Amino acid sequence: SSLFAPVELAPRDPILGLTEQFNADTRTQKVNLGVGVYGDENGRLPLLQAVQQAEARLLATPRPRGYQPIDGAPAYNKAAQALLLGSDHAAITEGRAVTVQTLGGTGALKIGADFLRQWLPQADVVISNPSWENHRAIFERAGFNVGTYPYYDADSHGLDFEGMVKHLESLPAGTIVVLHACCHNPTGVDPTPEQWQRIAAVVQSRGLLPFIDMAYQGFGDGLQEDAATVRLFAGLGINVVISSSFSKSFSLYGERVGALTLLTTSADESARVLSQLKRTIRTNYSNPPTHGSAIVSTVLNTPELAQLWEQELAQMRNRIRDMRGQLVSKLAALGVQQDFSFILSQRGMFSYSGLSPEQVARLCNEFGIYAVGTGRICVSALNPNNLDYVAQSVAQVYK
Ligand code: PLP
Repeated sequence: SSLFAPVELAPRDPILGLTEQFNADTRTQKVNLGVGVYGDENGRLPLLQAVQQAEARLLATPRPRGYQPIDGAPAYNKAAQALLLGSDHAAITEGRAVTVQTLGGTGALKIGADFLRQWLPQADVVISNPSWENHRAIFERAGFNVGTYPYYDADSHGLDFEGMVKHLESLPAGTIVVLHACCHNPTGVDPTPEQWQRIAAVVQSRGLLPFIDMAYQGFGDGLQEDAATVRLFAGLGINVVISSSFSKSFSLYGERVGALTLLTTSADESARVLSQLKRTIRTNYSNPPTHGSAIVSTVLNTPELAQLWEQELAQMRNRIRDMRGQLVSKLAALGVQQDFSFILSQRGMFSYSGLSPEQVARLCNEFGIYAVGTGRICVSALNPNNLDYVAQSVAQVYK
């Protein structure tokens, strides 16, 4: 008998399962709106020019592949930090910002969660309702109790702001509050700048610990605009944890490039925090890989490549916005009574479309259009080749 006999079969990842189902679908006209990656106007995953040029530069000077420092490449960490805070931010000049390279945004969340579990063992975690599936799983695996705070309001297709603030006000000091910096996944609904002010004030007055997940910087309103939330919290002088991902913004999903930044209250605290983060990393995967971070670092530290990247990022952002606009106007033109204008104020790759589970099932069964059962659609999977078909099919299920 096997010692592994007690191992139970884990449930399938619902979104990856959807893609498997999509791939097995033999219909010629089919659309996968379930995925979480950006597709260009031809539905293809882009390889950015800035990335290609950075890679060409790197290849021009072949280098041996030694170990990186445990916390990653200094030039990369500095650039990642500057992207979040701006290079002259007081937290940086005063030595209150600690940044380590991580394996994507997920790796940043995991290292952050493990670190916090060790040093704030009494704390609970709250995530938005709903949130990215992996938030709960990562923090629970790290040993935390994970609760939720009200976030999405299905009736208004917007934010349950009063519910959210009221809940945050009720939390014990030290509670870790996971916030989406911009482009909330899965809903696409973000607080307004004024609402963020109030959220920040509650977090500060209640002594909560904001853990800000920044997976889509540049996909909302712009690189700098999307950093406003992080900078608002950084300006309070409180402890803040930030996970960054470059998977989407550089279209480097498989390279696993991300960063974890902790804001402390002194340079001395920073040194202690960094020493412990390194231990956490050392006992997980020892040190991060070289290639992806070298690409990102080359782009961010070479002005003409950084400029090119910003242009390409703006193209992706504007294309998604354009698809939102076209979807809404096509649905209206098809005579759908339902008001879909809320899709225009949502940001990022996703939209809680308001489609019911039954409508999602009909789209799949009758039209080969795959969306998540919650009604989440990936707007960046829309393109000029499938938009009319998607709009017409959605119109059918609203009849
Ligand atoms: N956080 C959120 C909210 C996400 O949507 C994602 C990716 O889908 C991540 C983190 C993880 O990003 P990465 O692929 O860099 O691990």
